[in-house]
Amino acid sequence: MANESNEPLFDDFCLSFLFSEAGDSNRIESFDLSCEASLICSQNPGNDPISEQVSKEVAGESSRQLCDICIGSKDCHEMFTIPSCNHQFCADCICKHVSITVQESAGVVNCPGLDCKATLNIDDCREIVPKDVVTMWADVLCESLIPPLQKFYCPYKDCSAMLVNDSDKIIKESECPYCWRLFCAQCNVSWHSGVDCEEFQKLNDNERQREDLMVYELAKQKEWQRCPNCKFYVEKTEGCLHISCRCSFEFCYACGEKWSSTHGGCRP
Ligand SMILES: [Zn+2]
Ligand SMILES: [Zn+2]
Ligand SMILES: [Zn+2]
Ligand SMILES: [Zn+2]
Ligand SMILES: [Zn+2]
Ligand SMILES: [Zn+2]
Repeated sequence: MANESNEPLFDDFCLSFLFSEAGDSNRIESFDLSCEASLICSQNPGNDPISEQVSKEVAGESSRQLCDICIGSKDCHEMFTIPSCNHQFCADCICKHVSITVQESAGVVNCPGLDCKATLNIDDCREIVPKDVVTMWADVLCESLIPPLQKFYCPYKDCSAMLVNDSDKIIKESECPYCWRLFCAQCNVSWHSGVDCEEFQKLNDNERQREDLMVYELAKQKEWQRCPNCKFYVEKTEGCLHISCRCSFEFCYACGEKWSSTHGGCRP
């Protein structure tokens, strides 16, 4: 928008000087608005800012514009122009839009305009978006540059740090550089010492605790068999392979199969 009144652009000092000198405060106030509006709008780059401006102007209030998101009539300086497409929305709405998008871990923030494919640039938004959102946005952008297969996360919920494996090697046992705890990057759990990943992944959720793993490891060493029914470990010292468990389930000690007419025990 051109400086329609053809008045010179006054700075704040000049305005306040005018204000204190003038008797008609209404006149000054409206002058103040249009002056400020021209200052802001003259900074907005655009292909055809004047026609855009006019079409959005609210009748009777030349310095006010309509925000298509909140349908609010906004003062010109409350509006934000997206440089790549010249769409204008109020700064509050852009701010909310950016926060929500970034919180969904998306680094690419599209223009909220209907069918508009333009994207918002982080640097353009620094002035209107809170600092913590800008920081989060930068983090998300940074993270999105790392190929998904190289990313993994510390499985301890109170840490969840993102880690990067840019080598070709498969990482299993890892120490988180942030919380210094050991974990398995393949199973995404705290480190399961003595049990390899394949075995670990076969275990039920309620058997994955540290104590359970210690028993599991011991059982493996001692060649204890497990009742397939109640999961109780059974140690056979002598006698035949036929086991009658405390839960009354009968199974073969050699292979763990149910004892039946077809399975009469494996050869020891
Ligand atoms: Zn708005
Ligand atoms: Zn747009
Ligand atoms: Zn950690
Ligand atoms: Zn593992
Ligand atoms: Zn049993
Ligand atoms: Zn058997």
